[in-house]
Amino acid sequence: MNLDQVRVLYSEEEVKARIQQMGEIITRDYYEEELLVIGILKGAFIFMADLVRKIDVPLRIDFMDVSSYGSSTISSGEVRIMKDLDYSIEGKNVLIVEDIVDTGLTLNYICEILRKRNPKTLRIACLLDKPSRRKTDTVPDYIGYSIADEFIVGYGLDYAEYYREYPAICILNPSVYEK
Ligand code: 5GP
Repeated sequence: MNLDQVRVLYSEEEVKARIQQMGEIITRDYYEEELLVIGILKGAFIFMADLVRKIDVPLRIDFMDVSSYGSSTISSGEVRIMKDLDYSIEGKNVLIVEDIVDTGLTLNYICEILRKRNPKTLRIACLLDKPSRRKTDTVPDYIGYSIADEFIVGYGLDYAEYYREYPAICILNPSVYEK
């Protein structure tokens, strides 16, 4: 990790322990049920991989890739599906796994699409939540950490596709993007 560019917010060890706890809670909530876990690409890939290994109920995984329409500064909340699910979710317990919920617009739209496909249940697990930025009433069911409004990289999250492989959850030094 280049510590001139980032500051560690949660260390690798802290994240590991937190995901273990989340996995235990999810395991308890879905006792004697099956789960279809849907990762939202690309940011959720590391969180998803770690989380599913801490969930002890029969599960299958699938991925969805979405991208926002229009300018990145004005989020319309309307997303284009770049990769749709491989499986039907009808009658299934669906758990969406997202890296970070910011305005909530992306997740709101994804939930709207998925609800129309009649899952049995639909819940959201996110690693990070920035509630101060919310523009919708989206409330994730499982939250790793609730954080202030700072730009996060590492543990799957990127800036211009870099930093995803950093093992800790880090705050990106504004000097990197204000240049
Ligand atoms: P929302 O629709 O909730 O505003 O957008 C959520 C998406 O914005 C996340 O899935 C993520 O791709 C991106 N995002 C929001 N905040 C951050 C952040 O602090 N760091 C990174 N790397 N991406 C973020």
